[in-house]
Amino acid sequence: MDYALLRKKMVLEQLIPRGIKDPRTLNAFYKIERHKFIPSDLRNSAYADFPVPIGEGQTISQPYIVALMTECLELTEKDKVLEIGTGSGYQTAVLAELAKEVYSIERFEGLGRGAEAALNALGYQNIKMKVADGTLGWEEFAPFDKIIVTAASPKVPLPLTEQLKESGRLVLPLGETFSQVLTVIEKKEGRFAFREVCGCVFVPLIGKHGLSRDTL
Ligand code: SAM
Repeated sequence: MDYALLRKKMVLEQLIPRGIKDPRTLNAFYKIERHKFIPSDLRNSAYADFPVPIGEGQTISQPYIVALMTECLELTEKDKVLEIGTGSGYQTAVLAELAKEVYSIERFEGLGRGAEAALNALGYQNIKMKVADGTLGWEEFAPFDKIIVTAASPKVPLPLTEQLKESGRLVLPLGETFSQVLTVIEKKEGRFAFREVCGCVFVPLIGKHGLSRDTL
């Protein structure tokens, strides 16, 4: 399979026509070998326009959603980023291309280990990962310039707002189990401004400050 060609088509047919235009984000999508984050029996769907199962009932998000969330973060090469929901590690790789340091948390041990192996194999040096409840954030390395949550929560986990820097930005799907709104939250002078981007559907954020149990 010609993965380089599929990658190019993904950018030209799924991202640019839907309005993704940040050149650094597009370059990351051209570069990162997404198929290396997908279970081997599903690799023919690696660049398709839909989420793909990665085990434990979880999914790697559709390329467009990963790109949209990345653009919403407005990353700079100086940023320290916290990601909740490592999953396959693909979004982590995108963040690592665009920011200075990435801290990523996954609740499933198997997914965390798999993502770590894929990211190490691709040579990323600016990522730190752990298996834990990400709704608690990662106090040891706080505060963060940017925080991204790639699972859906009915409310904003309080520790994440506390671990966000002043002028920082938090991007997450907010809402109930089968329908959420992709939301950008900016912290300014200790207050939070909310902006709704679009409707979306994510797997649930399970943890102390998210949903208390797996409802699917
Ligand atoms: N961004 C990922 C990727 O590129 O593959 C996809 C993430 S998937 C849609 C959401 C992930 O969030 C799942 O792997 C799930 O196990 C994880 N998750 C859910 N609740 C969590 C929590 N409290 N802490 C950490 N990870 C959590």
